[in-house]
Formats: sequence, C-alpha cells, structure tokens
Amino acid sequence: MKLKTIWLCTLVTGVFVTKISQAQQGNPSTPPAVSPMPMKPEMTEIWEPEVKLISPATKLGDAPSDAIILFDGKNLDQWVSQKDKTKPAPWKIVNNDHLEVVPGSGDIQTKMQFGDCQLHIEFSAPDAVEGAGQGRGNSGVFFQDRYELQILDSYSNRTYRNGQAASIYKDQAPLVNAMRGPLEWNTYDVIYTAPRFKADGQLDAPARITVLHNGVLVQNNATINGLTLYIGLHNYPSAHGDDVIHLQDHGNKTQFRNIWIRKL
Ligand code: MG
Repeated sequence: MKLKTIWLCTLVTGVFVTKISQAQQGNPSTPPAVSPMPMKPEMTEIWEPEVKLISPATKLGDAPSDAIILFDGKNLDQWVSQKDKTKPAPWKIVNNDHLEVVPGSGDIQTKMQFGDCQLHIEFSAPDAVEGAGQGRGNSGVFFQDRYELQILDSYSNRTYRNGQAASIYKDQAPLVNAMRGPLEWNTYDVIYTAPRFKADGQLDAPARITVLHNGVLVQNNATINGLTLYIGLHNYPSAHGDDVIHLQDHGNKTQFRNIWIRKL
C-alpha cells in the first residue's frame, strides 16, 4: 500500500471514530461501536413481575374481569344525586335493562373517584326525536367532574362541530360523526389521562383523551384544554386529584346501559 493511501485510510478511520464518539456523547442510548460482550437473546428479555392475568369478556364491549361495574341494568348502587350527594341517583331504570334521564332531576355522579381510566358506556338518544341542535338528546360524561365528553343526538342534527356527539365540549371536535339513529345504541370506549399538576398547583400536563365511537376512532389522544365551559375560554383550575364521573341531565330522556370502568 502506498503511503498516500495509508494516510487517507487513517484519516477516514479517524473521522469515523470521532463521529461515533460524538454520537455516544450526544445520546447515551447509542450502543458502543464494539460490544463489550456478545449479546444473547435472553439478555433483552424481561420476565418479572409477571403481567397480571385477567379474563376478557366473551362478547366485545362487555366488562373484563378487572373492571368496576358502574351500571349493568340492575341498580344504581354506584351512583348518587349530584344535587344532594346523600340521596340515591334519581334517574329511572327501565325493564332492568337500561337507565333513562329523568329531566329536571339533576346530574348523577359515581360514588367512587377516578383519575386515569378506561371507560365503556353505551347510550341512546331519546326514542322520540324532539328539539334541534344542542336541544336534541343532550347529555354528557364528565371526567373528574370537570371535563365533558359530549353526548348528543348528532344523527341528522347539525350544531357547532366542537359541540356535537363525541366532542370534548367546546374544545375538540370529533374526527368524524359516527352517530347511529335514535332507536339504536351507541358505544363510547374511552381512554382518559388525567391532567398533571406541579407541586405549586400549576398545570404540568393537560388531560388527554382517546375515544372510539361505535368502534370508530373519533378522539386520537386529543388534548383537553381545561374546563369544558359553556361560556368563555377554557382554562385549567388549580390542582385537583381523582374525582367522580358524572352524567348530565340536560333535560332530554337520554338512555344508558352497560357502563364499566378500569382504573389505569
Ligand atoms: Mg352535554
């Protein structure tokens, strides 16, 4: 090998080693250029603790074994009146099958409190189609008692896009309108991540939400930008922890069934 070629090879190798060294300094997860020992498959296997075993439901949409059943048609034991939390939830159970809002009786809320969770809820717009826009089949699911996932009869019923069914009320419009007709049942499958707050009470990370409406993705890890207020710009309150889930009485006979939740 000629002297010039040797010199060029040395230079190229030097630049290459320097680049690797810089990459390793910049990113500690960059593997070393030469492994200190040969890797075996089991060296990247994690066995403990074993992943918890649960039983999924036989039918998709029914509760898995580790879910908390909030309503299965039998009773409202998991709920109370929001107007007077010492009183039972004042809504009507129909045919030991589903729940119906009693207009004017007020919202109902869970006895238990939740933060991060997976929620399954089924709902139907009132059988008799009455009203228009926000007045038709309006209800809602409030996470941590504050952040509303809208329920509305959005079947052939135009309203503002960030207020229709599956919107985060006056915040995030759904990606599509997947609403069924008023005599049919709808499902929401929700993955909710609670907001995080710093020690001084200021917001650290906003709440996030993923929603499947009748199996269709309508909120894709969307940011919730604060209290879902009817009037005014949305903002976060001071720090709060887990809280109840509440269902809204908006004066319409919206129906519910098969409500279950998993704490995450
Ligand atoms: Mg509502």
